Amino acid sequence: MEMLNQEVLIIGGGIAGMQAAIDIGASGRKVVIAEKEKTLGGHVKDYTCLFPDLSNGTALVAQKVAKVEAFPNITVQLETEVSDLERVNGGFKASLTKNSASETQNFGAVVIAGGYGNFDGTKYGEYGYGRYPGVITGIEFEQNMGEILKRPVKTAVFIKCVGARDRSKGMPYCSKVCCMYTAKQAKELKNAHPDASVYVTYMDIRANFKNGEEFVRGVMEEERVRYIRGRVGKIFPANGCLTVRMEDTLKGVPQEIEADLIVLATAMVPVNSTNNLVMKVGGKVDDNGFITSLPLAESTNPMEVAKGVYYAGACGFPCDVRESLNQGSAAAAGVLSYLQVNGRP
Ligand code: SF4
Repeated sequence: MEMLNQEVLIIGGGIAGMQAAIDIGASGRKVVIAEKEKTLGGHVKDYTCLFPDLSNGTALVAQKVAKVEAFPNITVQLETEVSDLERVNGGFKASLTKNSASETQNFGAVVIAGGYGNFDGTKYGEYGYGRYPGVITGIEFEQNMGEILKRPVKTAVFIKCVGARDRSKGMPYCSKVCCMYTAKQAKELKNAHPDASVYVTYMDIRANFKNGEEFVRGVMEEERVRYIRGRVGKIFPANGCLTVRMEDTLKGVPQEIEADLIVLATAMVPVNSTNNLVMKVGGKVDDNGFITSLPLAESTNPMEVAKGVYYAGACGFPCDVRESLNQGSAAAAGVLSYLQVNGRP
């Protein structure tokens, strides 16, 4: 029996991909991270404050990058896309493309950690995203938090479920993390501007994380952020600021709020860039475009997509940073077990 190639390809150098690389790299095996951006770290490198412990995402990414770089057996290829992937001789042949130049390389296993995209807020034309500078997304709030918290905000409105749980204009699924990051952002804003009026409009509150319920309740009761149940119908300029028009569905009354900052909690969406690669090696993608793992009864590892192929992070479904790290480690455990079992001569 031919010895299986022990080198591992990781597609995507965000937090999940780096965690998988670190855990596999610790076994001494060679790892290649192919990252299409100019730097490692994905979305998390731009987040200054993470739920639940409000730790700094930029610092967390710097810590993981330093660990990756400390392994001589981990190679990072930046601005590199995996343009093709196929099964050969029990392993995989990948085409790594940078600046239109491609080279092929063989691997024994693959981890797909392609991350996620953000729902395009302009699809809700009635919210004015892209037309009114006072309307931003939750991701933009994270990326520019330092500057936003210094703005003279008097009234802010956070709007949840934008592009999620909406089968007509958005995605049908619940994006899972936006209830928590909205509560966290409302808390940050209130801490920076204690006299500001801060509202959160919601259809549901899904705080299904450890201490999540208590966190949201604290934002309501201690930070005095006002939660209003109902969908916003329209945002329009009036009196030098923006008016948010909605119905308070608990009270059954229409409501208008004049605000100078409006934050849309847009859904996490699949990026699809790796989907054709997944399908070429026998994996599946669900109706929404997220990578699907094998049924639990068919696999010993929940991140296994197909024989020798694993995924980690939000390319499988919206998840938070802690979950992404756990999935990176779980994918690495699957890879190491697979290579060990199948690499025996
Ligand atoms: Fe809406 Fe909350 Fe689900 Fe996000 S997590 S889609 S805000 S219910």
